[in-house]
Amino acid sequence: MKTMADKRDYYEVLGVSRAASDDEIKRAYRQLARKYHPDVNREPDAESRFKELSEAYEVLSDRQKRQLYDQFGHAGPQAGAGMGGFQGGFPFGDIGDLFESFFGTGSVRRGPQRGADLRVRLKLKFEEAVFGTEKELEIPRWETCLICDGTGAEPGKPPVRCPNCGGTGEVRRVQQSIFGQFVNVMACERCHGEGQIVQFKCTECGGKGSVRRTRRITVTIPAGVSDGMEIRLGGQGEGGERGGPPGNLYVQLQVEPHPVLQRDGFDLVHELPLDVAQAALGVEVEVPTLDGPEVLTVPTGTQHGRVLRLKDKGVPRLQRSGRGDLRVVVRIEVPKTLTTYQRELFEELARTFDPRANRAARRDRDETHDSRTDGRLPTGDERAEASGGRTRPPKGKGILDKMKDALGLDE
Ligand SMILES: [Zn+2]
Ligand SMILES: [Zn+2]
Repeated sequence: MKTMADKRDYYEVLGVSRAASDDEIKRAYRQLARKYHPDVNREPDAESRFKELSEAYEVLSDRQKRQLYDQFGHAGPQAGAGMGGFQGGFPFGDIGDLFESFFGTGSVRRGPQRGADLRVRLKLKFEEAVFGTEKELEIPRWETCLICDGTGAEPGKPPVRCPNCGGTGEVRRVQQSIFGQFVNVMACERCHGEGQIVQFKCTECGGKGSVRRTRRITVTIPAGVSDGMEIRLGGQGEGGERGGPPGNLYVQLQVEPHPVLQRDGFDLVHELPLDVAQAALGVEVEVPTLDGPEVLTVPTGTQHGRVLRLKDKGVPRLQRSGRGDLRVVVRIEVPKTLTTYQRELFEELARTFDPRANRAARRDRDETHDSRTDGRLPTGDERAEASGGRTRPPKGKGILDKMKDALGLDE
C-alpha cells in the first residue's frame, strides 16, 4: 500500500496542467489508459501505471473531488469519498444536487461515470492460503467499446447535438409549490441528459458503448492470507460510462479448513492426544506440520493442556517476514473403560502413590463410586508419605514384569 507521501501528483500522472479542462483530462486519460491497459501492455509496471491513471482520473474527472484535491492534495478526495476504489459517494453530493434542482442553478447533464465494482469468490486450499499461489479467474464483464470509445457512435460519424434540449442535456420547467415558484431542471428525455444523440450506432457494440467480454485474470495470492479476506484488483471491474474510469474487482477468499491444524492468526494449533502412560513417562511422537511430519519429544511428566512449540512452523506473516509457530496442545485422555488386567495394574500403581488408595479401591468395587478414586492427584502430604518409602509394591512381580507378561514379552 502506497502512503500519501509517495503518491504522484494526479496532474503529473495524466500529464496535464493544473488548468486543464475536463476535455483535456478526458483525452489524456483515454490516451494513456489505452497505452497502459494490462490487457494490451505487457510491461511489468503497466498494471500499477494503469491503476495510478484510473485513480487520478477518478478524482480529476469529478468536479467536487478535483476541487478538494486542488485544495488539500491527496488527503482531500480521500477524506470525503472513501477513495481507494470504494464507491462511497461524496457526502455532500446528494444534498448539493437537491438544492441545485430547487434553485435551478445546477446541471443534470450526465458526466463520466465510473464502472461498477465486481465481486467474486475464490476457493483456496488451506496450504494455498498459507504459502500463497497464483490463480486464474474468468471474469465476464462489460468493457468500454474500444471501437467507438464508449460513445456508441460509429467512428467518423460522431453524435449530433440533441434538437430537444439544444445540447444542454436538460429541460427546465417552472413549477409552483408552497415555497413559491421555482425552476425544476430535469434530464432531457430525448437524449437522456447526454446533450447529443447517436444517429449511426457503432456496429461493434450496437450503440451501447460497451461490450460484454470474458477476461482471464491472474490473481497473485500472497502467503499468509486467511478466510474472508478480500483482494482488490484496481481497474479490473466493469468499464466506465462516457469516459469514466473502470470499477474495481474484489476477490473474496474462502479458505478450506485443514483436517488437523487450526489457524490462530499466524500460529497453527494442533491438539495432541496422549494416554496417561505417555504423559507420565514421556514419549516421542510424530506430529503433522505443513512441511511434513516432525518428531516431537514430549517430556516426562507432561501435564494436560501443556503447549509445546515448534518454532517457525506456522503461517508466513502476510506482507512481512518470518513465520508463526506451531503450537501443540497436549490433551491427556484417561481411559473410560479398563480391562480387568489394566484395572489391576492401575490399582497397583495407585498403591504406590497412596497407601490408602488400596483400601479405597477395594471399597469401590462394592459401592461402584467413591470420591477417592476420582482421578484426584495426591496432595503434598500424601506424596511425602509415598516417597517416604513406607509403601512398596507387594512382593513378587512388579508392574513392569506384569505388563511384559500381558504383552507376552516374558523372557
Ligand atoms: Zn462501440
Ligand atoms: Zn436532449
